[in-house]
Amino acid sequence: MTAPEPLSAAQPTAADESAATGLGGRPDAVQGAADGAVAGRGGSQARGDGTRVVHAGVPAPVAGEPFLPSPVFVAPYHLDPVAGPQAGVDGYGRSDNRTYRMLEQAIGELEGGECVVFASGMAAITAVLLATLRGGDAVILPSDGYFLTRAFAAEHLPGRGIEVRTMPTAGPYPAFDGVRLLLLETPSNPGLDVCDVADLAARAHATGGLVAVDNTTPTPLGQRPLDLGADFSVASGTKALTGHSDMLLGYVCTRDPELAAMIRTWRARTGGVPGPFEAWLAHRSLGTLDLRLARQTANAAAVADLLAGHPAVASVRWPGRPGDPAYEAAGRQMRRVPGVVTFTLADKAAVDRFLAASELIFAATSFGGLHTSADRRAQWGDDTPEGLVRFSCGVEDTADLVADVRLALDAALG
Ligand SMILES: *Cc1c(COP(=O)(O)O)cnc(C)c1O
Repeated sequence: MTAPEPLSAAQPTAADESAATGLGGRPDAVQGAADGAVAGRGGSQARGDGTRVVHAGVPAPVAGEPFLPSPVFVAPYHLDPVAGPQAGVDGYGRSDNRTYRMLEQAIGELEGGECVVFASGMAAITAVLLATLRGGDAVILPSDGYFLTRAFAAEHLPGRGIEVRTMPTAGPYPAFDGVRLLLLETPSNPGLDVCDVADLAARAHATGGLVAVDNTTPTPLGQRPLDLGADFSVASGTKALTGHSDMLLGYVCTRDPELAAMIRTWRARTGGVPGPFEAWLAHRSLGTLDLRLARQTANAAAVADLLAGHPAVASVRWPGRPGDPAYEAAGRQMRRVPGVVTFTLADKAAVDRFLAASELIFAATSFGGLHTSADRRAQWGDDTPEGLVRFSCGVEDTADLVADVRLALDAALG
């Protein structure tokens, strides 16, 4: 008689699961979203996130070939000297590169749509804005979202006859008449407010508008905007998606073949493609996304609790924390809460003391990487309190990180 199999250490318990998602086992949390339009080897929503990211976009096994084929470094390809350019045969690197196609397959499986990759998040966001908007249109942007999107819109859209309106992510949202594009960012960056994508998408569609969601902060494992009714999921892959603070990347996903073709043509004309090595590196990094996010979320839960009880901290926002204004909304539409926590210390001097005392926290803008980092947003001109810090939890051991943050907070008191 064989002994029963011992429970594998890797089997997640209910408690592990809720620490890893930050959703606290809330029954209304969206744990398994509907099947995406694109399913590949790793794309089945029936499988767990770890399985899906490891297999996403990875070709079927061929004896003697690597798991993830090496990057294709190319500008022109050989043409058939007689037939010339042929459909389905790669001709020129700005449009045709199988390294991009594999990464697009991978991200498309995770987002549940067709993916077009770009050189950076801003290349992707500007593609959506400029390819969809015409003179006479209005666009709504988050007043509390990524500031370069607003800066770009203010500098380049009014001169094209496009009206730019801004709204706080938490609302209230007015009627959407005349609005061609509603761009949401949820959770917003750096305030971490959450809005109801399904409700806003339905309202914007009713008046003929398109809806895009900046999915940078949650990543497609945290939230699937296309399942919630958005026309575009657009993101920077520079942050948690690739997670190693060593590259820039962006992408646009959509289920509408015409919109996908429009974005792909836009990219071919404007040329904002990633380098093949970056595309390959991004694909390689995707395989650990589930593991990285799970640790980042668990760290954020612990750090948010610590912050909430510390006298140096005036306020803390983390949508996974019960009592946070975004807690209920996050539980309804997110699959897990990201590892970014925003908190406020007394002033700049307190943040200076906090950073000087920490041994683990890097001062850096950007977020979602392996290393815990902190960014005082007012130093970039954000309209935020002087002591507001966007804190990105890395994948360090939770106990080490909490001990370090406690020490730094004590020092911040002065
Ligand atoms: C960083 C970021 C961007 C811009 O991405 P880049 O890759 O730096 O161009 C856009 N939106 C959000 C929410 C971001 O955090």
